[in-house]
Amino acid sequence: MPEERTDELYASVDLGGTKVACAFATAKGEVLAEETIPTESHEGPEAVLDRIADLVNDLADRTSAQPAALGMGIPGLVDIDNGVTKFLPNLPTQWRDVPVREHLAPEIGCPVYLLNDVRTATLGELTYGHGRTANTMAFFALGTGIGGGVVVDGQLRLGPLGAAGELGHQTILPDGPRCGCGNDGCLETLASGPAITAKGVWLMLSGRAPHLYEIVGGDPGQVTPREMKLAAEAGDREVREALVRAAQYIGIGVANVVTILHPDLIVLGGGVAEIGALLFDTVREVMRDRVGMFPTDGVRIEKSMLGADAGMLGGVALAMKGGLST
Ligand SMILES: [Zn+2]
Repeated sequence: MPEERTDELYASVDLGGTKVACAFATAKGEVLAEETIPTESHEGPEAVLDRIADLVNDLADRTSAQPAALGMGIPGLVDIDNGVTKFLPNLPTQWRDVPVREHLAPEIGCPVYLLNDVRTATLGELTYGHGRTANTMAFFALGTGIGGGVVVDGQLRLGPLGAAGELGHQTILPDGPRCGCGNDGCLETLASGPAITAKGVWLMLSGRAPHLYEIVGGDPGQVTPREMKLAAEAGDREVREALVRAAQYIGIGVANVVTILHPDLIVLGGGVAEIGALLFDTVREVMRDRVGMFPTDGVRIEKSMLGADAGMLGGVALAMKGGLST
C-alpha cells in the first residue's frame, strides 16, 4: 500500500516587542501547533534568536515534522534580500544589522525569510483572508501605530527598502500633531488607538463622558476605542463625535488610496477596527464623498477576516512563497 502523502509544514514567527509567537501550519493555513513566549528583548538579539530557534525546534518535535521554511514578521525595517534587520525602533539596541537568517537557518535546518510585520499581515490577509478574491488591495493596521500594506495586481508592493505601503504616515492635516516619523499631521497622529483613547480619557476626566466613566470605573488606563464605542452607544455624544472624527480621518486616508489605486478591496484591522459599524459606515461615506473621479461602488471595505492571526498566517504564506525580493 502506498504511503499516505503528508502535507508539507511551514513555520511562522511573529517577533514583537513583548512577545514572540510561533506556529506550524499547512499550505492551506491549518495551524497544527503554536506557542508564544516573552521576547525578553533586554537580553539582546543573540539570546532572543537562540530562544526563537529553541521554540521552532520544540514545535518541530511536537509535530514530528521538519518545517520546509520559516517566514518571519519583523517590527521594523528589514533587508529582505539578505535576511538582516536594519532598524527595529521598539527593541533595545534597535537590532541594527542583525543577521537573523544567518543565525537561525543552521539552528533550525530550513530557509528563513524576513518581512516587515504589517506587510506580513497584508500577505496573510491576501492569501487566507478577504484578499483571496481581490486583485488590488490595501491593508490598514489600526493599532498602537497605523501600519499598512499595499497589493497591486496580486503582488505585495515592497519598494527598494520593503518600506512601501506605510499608509499611516500619509499627511492628513498639514499643520497637525508632530509624528514619530518626523512629519506633521500623519494619519497615525490622528486616528491610532492611543490618539483616539487620549480624546476619550480627556472627555471622561473633564466630566463630559459619564457612560465611559461608568464603563471603565473611572480608570483612564481601561479606556480603549472599544470602550469608547460602548459609551457612544450608551449616549455619550462627545465620545461619539470623537470616534466619528477619527473615522473621518481614516476615511480620508482610504479615499486617497482609492483615488490612486482604484483597488477592489480595503481591509481595516487592529484594535481601532473594533469600533465597528460607526467606523466602517463613516469610512464608506467619506470615500464616496471624496473620490470624485470614478464611482466607488465596487470598492469593498472590510474588517480583517483573520484579526490577530493575520501576521501568523502571513508568515506561513511568506515561507510558502520562499520569501519575497525587492
Ligand atoms: Zn508619520
